[in-house]
Amino acid sequence: MGSPTSVTPLAGVYVHVPFCSAICNYCNFNRGLLDADLKRRYVAALVRQIEEASDGTGVDTIYFGGGTPSLLAAEEIEAVIGACRRAFAVAGDAEVTLETNPETVEPASLDGWRAAGINRLSLGVQSFRDDELRRLGRIHDGARARRAIDGARAAGFDNLSLDLMMWLPGQQVAEWFESVDGLVAASPDHASLYMLELYPGAPLRDEMARSGWSLAPDEDAAEMYVGGFERLDRAGFEQYEISNVARPGHQSRHNLKYWTDGEWLAFGCGAHGTRAGTRWRNLPATDEYVARVEAGVPVVAESRRLSPHDRFVEAMITGLRLSRGIDLDEVAVRYGVDVMATYGDELTPAMEAGLLALDGRGLRLSRQGMLVANEIFRVFV
Ligand code: SF4
Repeated sequence: MGSPTSVTPLAGVYVHVPFCSAICNYCNFNRGLLDADLKRRYVAALVRQIEEASDGTGVDTIYFGGGTPSLLAAEEIEAVIGACRRAFAVAGDAEVTLETNPETVEPASLDGWRAAGINRLSLGVQSFRDDELRRLGRIHDGARARRAIDGARAAGFDNLSLDLMMWLPGQQVAEWFESVDGLVAASPDHASLYMLELYPGAPLRDEMARSGWSLAPDEDAAEMYVGGFERLDRAGFEQYEISNVARPGHQSRHNLKYWTDGEWLAFGCGAHGTRAGTRWRNLPATDEYVARVEAGVPVVAESRRLSPHDRFVEAMITGLRLSRGIDLDEVAVRYGVDVMATYGDELTPAMEAGLLALDGRGLRLSRQGMLVANEIFRVFV
């Protein structure tokens, strides 16, 4: 197997913000309830961690993820972006994304975020139906989400992404399509459609048992997925990844780094980064992260060199998430693997079932294949 070479010229920056106003009953992310004093110290720690990483790396995306990064004040966001600009060579046209929850979006905050340098908003709508939002423990309703969308447009945000979740407890197929239609009516530039994943021990599981809410059968989940994306096709969106659609020119440049063997730096508690063939993860606990940065002690919890095989496997799994699929000639050059010679026999059943296609453009999952992608990916692991 040959040595992979990096072809991604510019890196991304991921900044994790672990604070939320309330904890949703299905959430398994690295987050905790907002603590104003800890937030102030956390932002100072972020700025310091970024400044200490200063090396002039070329960067063309900055992504604030969470948690609820929109709980940061505009000045705090500006301080973090300013630190990035001092530490790295941030491109003039860099994509700078802020994940937001509808309840945090106000005209004044929108203006402040724009002035701070945010040029892309990702809004966690999840559903336009109030009953579904209540079941998830979300603190906004459909009307609040619509106001946030209108406010973002009025403030001049021309790169707006909306998140929706399907296969919610008690959700019928038609109810899911209502939310998809609500999204189409809101006309964002980008959208992410996820299936709810219920991790073991999620409080939502207990609530489902208590309230008698069940998940729709698997066939209905498949109909939700395929039918939801078909509605978005008809509305002029292009699906470019298993869970993501975009209007032309609005694919997420930051997330594409994750799916194309790119590089990104990671700041904040629990954030993962990848650079020059090494993957690392920062300490997950917010208070410990802050205390360590304040004491000048490293915050990396683990770091590992990716072997050429690791990089090949990851390239296949992430590349196949993309609708355009993966170019097998490029894989042979970058990773030294002849995919069809090595895995062809195991992939044949999926190809015969119409889940996977091989043509002049490479190897791609069909939409039906995307539904069972994890099973197909097992071939490479
Ligand atoms: S707002 Fe997002 S990160 Fe926070 S608890 Fe809810 S799902 Fe988790």
